[in-house]
Amino acid sequence: MRVGVIGAGATGLTAAYDLTLRGHEVVVLEGAQELGGLAGSLLIAGTSLERFYHHLFGTDRAIIDLIGELGLSDRLRFHATTTGIYQDGRLHDFSTPREMLRFSPLPFMDRLRFGLSSASIKAIRRGERFNDVTALDWTRRWAGRKASTVIWEPLLAGKFGDRAPEISMAWLWARVHFRTFRLGYLDGGFARLYSVLAEQVAAKGGKLEFGKKLTKITQTAANRPVRVSVEDESQYEFDRVLVTVPQPAFAKAIGADGQDSLWQNHYLGATCFVLELDRSVIPYYWLNVNDPSFPFLALVEHTQMISPSTYGGRHVLYVGNYVPREDWRFTTRPDELLKRFVPYIRQINPGFDLSWVRQWHFSRAGFAQPVVTSGYRALIPSHTTALPGVFLATMAQVYPQDRGQNYAVAMARRVVRDYFS
Ligand SMILES: Cc1cc2nc3c(=O)[nH]c(=O)nc-3n(C[C@H](O)[C@H](O)[C@H](O)COP(=O)(O)OP(=O)(O)OC[C@H]3O[C@@H](n4cnc5c(N)ncnc54)[C@H](O)[C@@H]3O)c2cc1C
Repeated sequence: MRVGVIGAGATGLTAAYDLTLRGHEVVVLEGAQELGGLAGSLLIAGTSLERFYHHLFGTDRAIIDLIGELGLSDRLRFHATTTGIYQDGRLHDFSTPREMLRFSPLPFMDRLRFGLSSASIKAIRRGERFNDVTALDWTRRWAGRKASTVIWEPLLAGKFGDRAPEISMAWLWARVHFRTFRLGYLDGGFARLYSVLAEQVAAKGGKLEFGKKLTKITQTAANRPVRVSVEDESQYEFDRVLVTVPQPAFAKAIGADGQDSLWQNHYLGATCFVLELDRSVIPYYWLNVNDPSFPFLALVEHTQMISPSTYGGRHVLYVGNYVPREDWRFTTRPDELLKRFVPYIRQINPGFDLSWVRQWHFSRAGFAQPVVTSGYRALIPSHTTALPGVFLATMAQVYPQDRGQNYAVAMARRVVRDYFS
């Protein structure tokens, strides 16, 4: 078959690789000018680094297997990393169960209850029972009101903003259940994985075209060609098409009335600064900012996991946010935004000064995080679509796990196996 794959992120590239292995003729159409989508990279002192912080968990089997299959296992290393919480104007170590039990913003009995309820989430093997329960209802009941208010509510609000009360407990269950303390990272960045996938696709005769933003997909009847139009007015014909772009872009392209705007409401955007610094800012890899007056959700000091020597001696700090696309943090000019963030970073490290920043980069993605509400499961679109030759494999279909590269790889492989054999 001649197959069109729309999008060259983790899902599209994995699918394209598997499709070429099955002998199909593949053309990948990517709207941007680079590979990787949300897991795309920039260069720091000649080394690739993701625009948005990325790591793997030890439970991420599908991507670990793919890395092995591509001969990159020796580059995948798991690191013991540290986590902190900024709360009540102080840093608290939250790296291991022992440190969690010392978390002073909570009275001891509440810490214990928090620990026991988290252990029970780890022990529950199937999350379906949580589909229609909100995370806040569950945590208030089982972790207790105090632990819910002090730990879970700020974490959920940081990730989902005003939508936090709607989030499904199934999502939180998966988030805790599949988490591992050691985190995986590919030496030289995940860009290596995506460039090897692209090379393999090209080696088997597949084509990758950049700057091809999907605008329309039509098919008049089953067994008729699928027509794809892109923004620069080129047109393509395929036997089948696999679409991996966010659901609103797909719904718009097939003219599914109202579906694009319905789904707009189910995604948050993400913004992220990468600060290249001459020194470290926080003593942890990951710092959750549990203070609603702060304009960002987390600081991630990547060089607490990977040595600064990998980046020419620079310390790398991400300042990350999930926000609606109309939020000021999404729309403000990045240089202005950075200035507005400085006093807050200084509250965390009083010595911090913009002169520590040697260079900075800013990225923004409009459709970065599906808002996984308690009724979400019923909304998830099928991989088959109204057009018989068109299939959908998109981040919004990952459930209940938090979307991630692993689930993109797993979904791509499943869809190719089930619909393109
Ligand atoms: C802040 C942040 C942190 C994250 N942290 C982690 C992490 O630690 N670990 C982890 O594994 N995952 C993490 N993720 C998630 C991970 O990046 C995604 O789950 C994964 O990259 C999704 O891949 P995808 O191919 O499904 O989607 P995308 O990456 O969104 O790929 C879709 C592709 O389609 C292209 N496209 C969009 N519209 C069009 C169009 N109209 N026409 C043509 N092309 C189009 C895009 O440019 C993109 O290349 C994080 C994501 C964010 C935003």
